[in-house]
Amino acid sequence: MVCPASPDLPPSNPNRTIRYWSLLQWLMLLASGGLLATLVVWPTIGLHGFWDVLIPAAPALVVVAPGIWRNICPLGTMSQLARRTGWSRARVVSTRVQPRLGLIGVALLLTLVPLRHPWFNQSGLATAALLVTAAVAAVAMGVWLGGKSGWCAGLCPVHAVERLYGIRPVITMTSAHCRQCDACVAPCPDTTPDQRHGIGVKTPARSLASALMIGGFPGFVWGWFQVPDGVSAWAVGTWAWPFGGLVVTLAMYLLVAWRAGAAAQRTIAAVFGAAAVSCYYWFRLPALIGFGPYPGDGMLVQAQGVISPVAVSVMQGGVTLFFFWWMVFRRPAPRAWMRRPQPASQATAVTIGMS
Ligand code: SF4
Repeated sequence: MVCPASPDLPPSNPNRTIRYWSLLQWLMLLASGGLLATLVVWPTIGLHGFWDVLIPAAPALVVVAPGIWRNICPLGTMSQLARRTGWSRARVVSTRVQPRLGLIGVALLLTLVPLRHPWFNQSGLATAALLVTAAVAAVAMGVWLGGKSGWCAGLCPVHAVERLYGIRPVITMTSAHCRQCDACVAPCPDTTPDQRHGIGVKTPARSLASALMIGGFPGFVWGWFQVPDGVSAWAVGTWAWPFGGLVVTLAMYLLVAWRAGAAAQRTIAAVFGAAAVSCYYWFRLPALIGFGPYPGDGMLVQAQGVISPVAVSVMQGGVTLFFFWWMVFRRPAPRAWMRRPQPASQATAVTIGMS
């Protein structure tokens, strides 16, 4: 498989930099253990910490510097444990199967997010069970498949969001998990400049995942915010709102994208990505400070009476302008999320040559 190179390649990943990242990864694993314990023992604090602090911060981080999140995500670290310890069977995933893993990741995302309202936002145990299940799946994929192909660039539901939001990174990081490149996935989402949904060998799975995420996700996000916490998982509205929204924006996307050229596709993906993340913060930020449509849902602090509604509207407008500027109007040179490390074959040759 060919792993397209990022423009600013170092000869190899510096060991000292990787040691710092490893320290951060261990700290994140420790914090995750603490979070799991808190979710079980003090669910109210754990739920606020996870759903109202960590998760709202993640999309902005992924927009600005997806490489940071890719390096420190605890699930990503767990998926790489077998690779680091030499226990991975490192099966190669073909370029036709890889997009199917990505499509399963999209399906997981679109199924699990609506279940936040009835289950995960409400129950520390349910959220803890979700995280433990994801961790087991990440480890298993790392044992079975090579590099990041199984989890970080495959089944992980968050990866679909990273590909949508992380199209204009401000910085290219050292790849903390890939000390050498095993060419595990092509094109590599980490080291391919200007990566986004739909890049790579055209397969039905890749096209479907791409259309669902670029076209459908803005509407899905909008619809999700129309549902209050505490609804039943079997209530029609739990699913009808997000998927109704998805269908509407997907139809709009298909209408504008079906005859657009390659350059226009990039812009369309940027516009829809910016719409999705703006919509998220449009609803999420006011809810965090008590101005949400459903009192108490997703609230971290009650700021009604302290902050005026006009200031909240200004904040919503400012955040939306920022994301459209960052993702659509700003046109930096294409960057990869991370630098590509030396290919494994070269790394071996260098090691042999030095001995
Ligand atoms: S840089 Fe890492 S994730 Fe990318 S293809 Fe190489 S081994 Fe796989």
